[in-house]
Amino acid sequence: MVDFEFERNSLVDDLKMRGYVTSKAVEDAMRRVPREEFLPADLREEAYVDSPLPIGEGQTISAPHMVAIMAENLDLKTGQKILEVGTGSGYHAAVCAEVIAPDGHIYSIERITSLASFAEDNLKRTGYAKLVTVILGDGSKGLPDHAPYDRIFVAAGAPEVPSPLTAQLAHGGKLLVPVGTRWYQDLIRVTRQGAKLEKENLGGCVFVPLVGEYGH
Ligand code: SAM
Repeated sequence: MVDFEFERNSLVDDLKMRGYVTSKAVEDAMRRVPREEFLPADLREEAYVDSPLPIGEGQTISAPHMVAIMAENLDLKTGQKILEVGTGSGYHAAVCAEVIAPDGHIYSIERITSLASFAEDNLKRTGYAKLVTVILGDGSKGLPDHAPYDRIFVAAGAPEVPSPLTAQLAHGGKLLVPVGTRWYQDLIRVTRQGAKLEKENLGGCVFVPLVGEYGH
């Protein structure tokens, strides 16, 4: 019988040592969210291997170090309104939910019906459903209904920064999006200051492709 809590804490210790987890807020969030609950039953024992894992429909749950990198570089704070594109299993949203609780909210958009319901079930079972709303649709166009967002992150690789996403960013808001080919991307951070958009390249990464109107 696997001691998930022990394995979770060991993984977070390792992510701290390797410099991926740098803040107390992200550390606490990753110590609390049970990644095993966001995996298909036959993969639960692999939950604390620092690797992406299959969740069905050819899609993956992101590796814990990538979730940490994105959470740290988004500079998440309690009370923020966030848009996630690519809900997948719901794990990444749950980690962010821990940080922005109790007053923040995450709108997470997924294009595959079975994954949207998988994520919803996982979020309900683990107690994050009040903080995360899962929506079925093409997130490459963003989600204008609830814009502007303090933070937006895309968990899939786009051919370029989708313009609807920068348009839906609040003043001072930050967007993280992997940009590149279907096989390899650079993690790009866009910060909005009024009409000005500042872009930074945070380094290489590998995500499944973003599909849809502003995707591949
Ligand atoms: N954040 C997820 C997690 O914690 O499990 C991992 C996301 S997975 C790497 C990428 C997801 O993006 C897939 O579930 C895929 O179906 C979804 N996706 C791709 N293009 C999309 C689009 N245009 N709109 C919404 N979701 C999209």
